Amino acid sequence: MNNPLRIGGITPLTTIDFPGRLAAVLYGQGCPWRCGYCHNPELLDATTPATVPWPEVLAFLQSRQGLLDGVVFSGGEPTLQAALPAALAQVRALGFQTALHTGGMYPERLQALLPLLNWVGLDVKGPLHAYDAITRTPGSGAKAFASLRHLLASGVAYECRTTWHAGLFSVDDLFALADTLANAGVAHWALQECRAPGAATWALTADQVERLGARFAGFVVRRG
Ligand code: SF4
Repeated sequence: MNNPLRIGGITPLTTIDFPGRLAAVLYGQGCPWRCGYCHNPELLDATTPATVPWPEVLAFLQSRQGLLDGVVFSGGEPTLQAALPAALAQVRALGFQTALHTGGMYPERLQALLPLLNWVGLDVKGPLHAYDAITRTPGSGAKAFASLRHLLASGVAYECRTTWHAGLFSVDDLFALADTLANAGVAHWALQECRAPGAATWALTADQVERLGARFAGFVVRRG
């Protein structure tokens, strides 16, 4: 591989990042967006060298054959790197199922990757009008929603995730987003409390949460 995937860290074992599987998580270095609540700021700089060289990543995964079901590519933003398709193919050749966590900023790349994926966690950061302020990147929302369309059309298992606090966008906008997702055909939505420094308090009643979730076959709230 000429330009191997740059990995900024590994979680050797997770039971929560790839539903139903024991998995390792590989964190791709670099992300083109700059969300204020980003929980992995050390992974944002695309020029930072790998902390775990790719051959070491493969050696680690070979040592886990038969012990792990899958490998999650997270970040940062894994689809930033042109080496991702080859890396996915290598990991699958070792016998692992594969998952991707993405913000969906490269819809065409995501579309091409979907045949190599068993599961996708797609961030839906907010309604279209709120996207650029959240990601600090012009045009980000259109790309994310294009990725959503590709994902839903593919039939690959997925979860859409929205990280929210009341300072990002209003409760009314959250209900409108839920409608948008349900109307687009989303069946699995996770609403995650944003607990970044300076985040507004969780401003939803139990009744509002129940009404938000009623639109989806699969709905989960993650707080704390
Ligand atoms: S898209 Fe994800 S990794 Fe990139 S800045 Fe936003 S939260 Fe951080």
